[in-house]
Amino acid sequence: MLHLLCVPAGCSASSDFFAKALQQEYGRSMLVTSSTVLVQKARMQGVNAVNFDYLANAVLRRCGRLHVRRISRKAQELIVGNILQALQEQGRLPYFEKLIAKKGFLRSVTSLMDQLGSCGVTPDEIADAFAHWDGRSGSYRQKDRESAELYREYIRYLIAHDVYDVAGMYRLAAEKLETLIQAEGALQWDTLFFMGFYQFDAWQLSIIRSLSRLCDVWIALPYEAVRPELYGATEFTYGDLMRQAVLEQVTLPAGPQRKPSLQHLVSTLRAPEIKPVPADSAIEIWQTEDRQEEMRAVLRDIKKLLRGQTVKADEVAVVVRRMEDYSGLRALCDEYGIPAQLRGSATLAANPVFRCIVTLLSSVSLHGREQADAWSDLLAQPLQRIALGLPTQIATEIANAHYYTDCKTFVTEALQKTGCTPLQDLWQTFTELKPEATVEEYCEKILGILSVAELKVKAGQLYKEGQITLTGFKNIACAHDALTLLLQSLPQDYLAGGCGNKKLSCALFTEALTEKAEGISLNLQPENQEGITVLSAVNLEEAAFRQVYVLGLREHEFPLFKHENWLYSDRERADLTALGIGLPSSADGYREDIRFFANACAAASERLVLTFFTDDEQGASPYIAEVQSLFTDLKIQVKKPEREIADSLSIRELELALAREGQADFLRQLAEGITEAGGSDRKRLTNETGWNGNLGDPELLRQVERQIGDRFSASKLETYRGCPFRFLVSYVWQQQPAEEVEEDMDPVRRGSLLHKVLEKFISNHLGEPLQTSRQEELQAELDRLFSETWHEFAEQGQLYAGDFWQHDKEQQRLLLQQWLHKEIAYSEAGSLRPAYTEMEFGRGSTNLMPLEINGRRIFLNGKIDRIDRAGNSFYITDYKSSQAPKKADFLDTNLQLPLYILAADRLVAAKEGGTVTGGGYYVLKDGERKESFLFVNAQDGKPPWQTYSEMQDEDGNKIPVTDITVLQEKTEQVLADTLRCMGQGGFRPTHTDKCDAYCPAAKICRYRILQPDPGGEERHE
Ligand code: SF4
Repeated sequence: MLHLLCVPAGCSASSDFFAKALQQEYGRSMLVTSSTVLVQKARMQGVNAVNFDYLANAVLRRCGRLHVRRISRKAQELIVGNILQALQEQGRLPYFEKLIAKKGFLRSVTSLMDQLGSCGVTPDEIADAFAHWDGRSGSYRQKDRESAELYREYIRYLIAHDVYDVAGMYRLAAEKLETLIQAEGALQWDTLFFMGFYQFDAWQLSIIRSLSRLCDVWIALPYEAVRPELYGATEFTYGDLMRQAVLEQVTLPAGPQRKPSLQHLVSTLRAPEIKPVPADSAIEIWQTEDRQEEMRAVLRDIKKLLRGQTVKADEVAVVVRRMEDYSGLRALCDEYGIPAQLRGSATLAANPVFRCIVTLLSSVSLHGREQADAWSDLLAQPLQRIALGLPTQIATEIANAHYYTDCKTFVTEALQKTGCTPLQDLWQTFTELKPEATVEEYCEKILGILSVAELKVKAGQLYKEGQITLTGFKNIACAHDALTLLLQSLPQDYLAGGCGNKKLSCALFTEALTEKAEGISLNLQPENQEGITVLSAVNLEEAAFRQVYVLGLREHEFPLFKHENWLYSDRERADLTALGIGLPSSADGYREDIRFFANACAAASERLVLTFFTDDEQGASPYIAEVQSLFTDLKIQVKKPEREIADSLSIRELELALAREGQADFLRQLAEGITEAGGSDRKRLTNETGWNGNLGDPELLRQVERQIGDRFSASKLETYRGCPFRFLVSYVWQQQPAEEVEEDMDPVRRGSLLHKVLEKFISNHLGEPLQTSRQEELQAELDRLFSETWHEFAEQGQLYAGDFWQHDKEQQRLLLQQWLHKEIAYSEAGSLRPAYTEMEFGRGSTNLMPLEINGRRIFLNGKIDRIDRAGNSFYITDYKSSQAPKKADFLDTNLQLPLYILAADRLVAAKEGGTVTGGGYYVLKDGERKESFLFVNAQDGKPPWQTYSEMQDEDGNKIPVTDITVLQEKTEQVLADTLRCMGQGGFRPTHTDKCDAYCPAAKICRYRILQPDPGGEERHE
């Protein structure tokens, strides 16, 4: 029989279910829950508790299927990849063909296969539903046919190879239960309890229905009919269960005793027609300056509570939506000395053991000097002292002493000088690594290297001798074990995915290995069971604490913004749901998130603190206004960073406060240990070499210089001048923000699309004046080019033509219209006419742009959007989508304009016997030319728009730039200064208005400490 218990917000079914389960013999009842936390909680009470996967496996074992081969996500992707390739080769994917090579496409198709599988539909049913989908265009019908075919082939593969994905395993369990029912068999349980779920997929529901025909099934589902907006994610499951279940009217305990405000919040959130009430002190909303200050404000508050002994650590929870947004919490808890139940983890991919293996593998496909360089890096890694027993300093000296163009010579030299036998073995194994091999062959070779290296034994010995710390030992041992497991499981994935015999290049194998390693976390510190709990809001079912802090209540963060799927948009998914195929949409994400938020609020019994910060990108979460609307007087408290010495709650805060106030004597008087512990902060504050991007080590400087190279674009140079640390991270560490094809167009793609359209248009009108009388005809041409380019971008997968784009497209068309209007006006007012468009220089062997700077030759590269001409005068133009660099930045952080003027003068004007008179920007968003420069001495071809003719020195004095000779001289001075600073290792973070989410260094940057108040305090006052 199926019993359904609706659990209102703030109530709990656990005590009721635990009591019922304990009345039965252990093993005759079982509790199935959604998370490991709930499993542990139940087991602590002596209740037999498992998760849903365990239940499905137990059912299969009971029905005689002892072994079910579950495939991993990687194996699923390989299977789908093979199917895509086979269908493409047969010409059966005309719609998807152009997308196959795109990043993220394989993952999207694999998750579509998962989603279709979870709906419980067969390939025939999918094909049937697609065939009855009215209003589809021809190309979308083709997409549907191809999706149906992919799904059919995917299922066919799983059946043929007797392997199962999650949906397949649930389907098998559901089928076996049906057979058991037909055979009038029995299960080992009398009663099953389900708790902690707010929804089930189609196969899970099918299993539950079948189980209820064989034993008693009780389900506790969070649901209140009067608050549909709070239970949107549960609605479907509730409706489905109610077709068979008996609705049990049990009065459940109201969870922990809550303060009145908290009870009001829990019982009225998203309820219709609420009367606001006065708030008490149990609920607070804090706004901070940024994420760092948000974490500090919360941890300072907790520290005060713990110090005052008004609350115990395990009665406090810090809740965030996504743990990765708050990766700094662990270190900050340590700084404040707050014990925390939070695993100190890092991914395997970032571990030195793994990095060594990747360096070795990467060198397989290299030759000559590059391979020797890679091996010099490999042997310089500190881990080699343990792995090979190699004196790495000697290896580095050998690498520096000679310019090796052959790797073997370098290794032979290293062998002779160090006498390191394990190095000989490593070289031997390396020479056996083939540029192409099966995954199994590669994995075997690396397992061999690991086994010979005996890393764990050697690290254990060093720990015993006190030469490395326990953390250091764990770091190596955990990585060794995780890597071994990975190398053992990867061939299985490829085998299950039908690629067991496929030969991969070493580079592709390294990529696959790294991708899997990125998903493996290493737990490096023992979990503290006594501290405050730090957890994600998705793991809060049935949780209870005296104090709860919910961080990151920002737009798009909580509730978490989810992009629409680019294979099937939300609108298409809604149509499919009407046809019986319920695929999840991005809106489902919002319905889930309000559940997570409600759980976080319900978890607090005495005090709830909601915190957020705002910036240019995102404001406060809508949940903040929603909570405020439930109370008459709930105000937002603005939390300022504590700066006073007396307010310091950690050594770092004290150090910073003392250093800021110049209290050097106090710093010295501090106990030796404290002074030493705070030493690193002092070094950071005092700009010592080796800290804050001030590099000093000569060998490191040499390597950095080599990495920077001698080729410079304007943006590379501008990045350094804007913020040297950002440059170091972007161009030396080569960290760039990732970008994927999204349904709505990002500014970079939008910019390239507009550039392309303008290039095509201008190319058609070189040397021509544009007149108002031709406006209509020119507009039609521009529209045609726009549509044509849009199709090209869509075909290349650079944009996805979904709902957002349709709106965006019209906006871009209007921008171009505005541009043409203004362009005609400029053309009629002056004599400049377009002469060149998209002129590239410095790439390849043509149009080289070398410059001699302080005896060093560098090469500049770039692309000039457009060069206009009037007689013998040339003028350059760069299109900007939304903003032009300010004139005050000319020849400082704006080097593009001066460099492009010099390039155009040397590569175009000089050859044609003319001169460049200046250059400027066309800002497409504003539809006009802005921030345009013109030499003081320019005679002919003056532009009919506003210009400036000077630069500013360091003191803000304006210096006229008379002609190209002066410009060349000033530019060379700036470049000399820039290269000198780089060469001296100056990579200090410099706060700019570009300290944004797109800076790849934003998460590790310390600019706030180095420049503690970039305008923040004034804002608060
Ligand atoms: S966050 Fe700002 S200061 Fe830090 S590296 Fe990036 S741009 Fe530089």
